[in-house]
Formats: sequence, structure tokens, C-alpha cells
Amino acid sequence: MKATSDGPPAGWVSITGVLAPGVSVAAYAARQQPVKAVCRTKGCYRRLDLDPTELCGERLGPFPMEKIKRLYECRRWNGCGLDFHDEPAQRKLRLEEFTGRPNVRLRLRCRSGSCKFFRVWLVEEMIEALRKRKAGSGATEIEGLGKMMTTACPLCKKVNWLAEILWANMNTVGWKQLGERSFNHMEPG
Ligand SMILES: [Zn+2]
Ligand SMILES: [Zn+2]
Repeated sequence: MKATSDGPPAGWVSITGVLAPGVSVAAYAARQQPVKAVCRTKGCYRRLDLDPTELCGERLGPFPMEKIKRLYECRRWNGCGLDFHDEPAQRKLRLEEFTGRPNVRLRLRCRSGSCKFFRVWLVEEMIEALRKRKAGSGATEIEGLGKMMTTACPLCKKVNWLAEILWANMNTVGWKQLGERSFNHMEPG
């Protein structure tokens, strides 16, 4: 996935400072992430397969996927029971596309109960650490990174890590005041 010089990779947004999947049809298309549905209404066996790239071709790219789903409701006397789910994105985020950016860090966050422990890494440091352990490289996917961490959390002693990309907007007042310390104040994504 190609990252633009000033923004997160296509299909991703940073609103709170933590990279999150964009909600528009175009964002789904960029991530190559289809949406599927099965209807649970009695007597209706409808199955749906929404291809975001096709929807973009119909000029629906700017609309939120949630709104588009509603256009597909079944018209049955006993209602619509369409149960939607996002398929896994075909295009995965990899560590190597986040190197060399002063506004980007990797955060490993403990997600056991109410534990608040986290640690912020330079992406380059993480790649180096993975290489040393022969556990990964720049091609390692962000999505699977948390599960690869086997060290127990120093606070709660559990092993339940989530890897997130922190993407700071350097044009904000917050960044001008705090700079790199901003990375320690970003809301859990
Ligand atoms: Zn139906
Ligand atoms: Zn913990």
C-alpha cells in the first residue's frame, strides 16, 4: 500500500492519533475489504456480497459503508434481517511502510481488562528487534504483531498485546507544544 507524503496509507485515517480503518466505501476499496451479509429473516435466504471497488465505480466511494448497507435492505413483510460483516482486508499494513517518519510510532498496548500499560517503539527499532529474534522483518503485518509478543505485561502479568500505529498530525498545537511526547498521550484506538 502506498502512503502519501502527508497522510496515512490509503484506506486508513488518523483522527485521534491512532491509525484506524476509514469508514467510506473508497476506504474499503483501498483496503480491498469486501463486506458480506446473510439475511436471518425467516424464509429469506438472501446473501449479499458488496464489492467496494464496484461501488466506487457507481460513484459511491465518498459515502460511509454503513449508509450503503441500508440501501440493500430486504423488502419482506416480516422485515429485513441482513447481518453484515466485514471480510478481512486483503491489503495488510506492514511495518516497512511506516519507517522514516518522525510523526509515526508503533504502540504495543496491553488490553487485559482495565490495564493501561503500553510501550511506544520507533518502527525501525521494532523491525530490528524482530530480525534479531528471527521472528519477523519489515514485511511483518501490524495486524498480527500483537499476537507475536510473548512477554508478560509488567503491570498485570498477562500476555494480551495489541499493536497500533500512532500517526501524529504535526500541524497541531499539541504537537508544537509536546512534540514526540505526544505519543504518550494518545487515546487507546
Ligand atoms: Zn432478507
Ligand atoms: Zn497489562
